[in-house]
Amino acid sequence: MNEFDVIRKFSGLLPPAPAEVLVPIGDDCAVLRLGDGTWVAASDMLVSGRHFKGWAAPADVGYKAVAVNVSDVAAMGGIPRFVLVSGAAPDPEMALGVFEGVAEACGAFGVYPLGGDTTRADALTVDVAILGELGAAPVLRSGARPGDLLAVTGELGASAAGLLALEEGREGFGRLKKRHLRPLPRTEAGRAAAGLGVGAMIDLSDGLASDVRHVCEASGVGCRVDLDLLPVAHDARELAASLGRDPALLAATGGEDYELLVSAPERVLRTLAETVDIPVTVVGEIAGSGIDFRRGGDPVDHLSGWDHFA
Ligand SMILES: [Mg+2]
Repeated sequence: MNEFDVIRKFSGLLPPAPAEVLVPIGDDCAVLRLGDGTWVAASDMLVSGRHFKGWAAPADVGYKAVAVNVSDVAAMGGIPRFVLVSGAAPDPEMALGVFEGVAEACGAFGVYPLGGDTTRADALTVDVAILGELGAAPVLRSGARPGDLLAVTGELGASAAGLLALEEGREGFGRLKKRHLRPLPRTEAGRAAAGLGVGAMIDLSDGLASDVRHVCEASGVGCRVDLDLLPVAHDARELAASLGRDPALLAATGGEDYELLVSAPERVLRTLAETVDIPVTVVGEIAGSGIDFRRGGDPVDHLSGWDHFA
């Protein structure tokens, strides 16, 4: 069983959803109709030894736990509004350190903490639940159509390169380390994409190789992705190469970029690129029935991202 088997089996245990649930479990967020508003809800957890190690300060962990949840709201085209934060730590000082990072991130992303819980445990753990508000129809994973192009915001591979730098104890590469420890969720781009009516959207948490599969499976389509087109920054290439790692493969599989993957017709993507102040890079297209990664025109097989139970 993997994470997705667990989600599918859990979904099978649930009664029919109440009428307010417009989109149930299975997308970046669930979508709820509450009064006159439409809201999105999600949660995401970070666990010491699994998602981070001693190189992450407690405040970084708290900050990132909020940022990755904001990213899931961004992937629906929503405005992040409220969080509930629960944490376990070996001692109260470390718990406070986490909550200092939580408070900083809440300020940075304009979300308000409504409460949560805290307890003692051996492994530092932070779980954040988020509520966001929608100003346009939610963008789901299931809306990719043949003929759409696939584009990503910002850059890929910086977080994975930063993680390598942290794990290898490399001096320097501060920008990459920061991208790993304190991701930049793409809320503005997500809202702009939703306003333009893009077909499908997901945030790149598990890695492009896995996340593009999620979009294609939900949409019942295939895709072709050209690894030569992935936007990988110079410092990420340099770090990867210095460790004998292939920069494009790192960017495709590394995960935790918290950029957005968007499927839309070319003219919509062009407008999006003109609207937002970060790069929007076409990396492939919706076509065929399988997931086809190419490099120099040749197929690249067996690419996958993060496995939650590996
Ligand atoms: Mg997500």
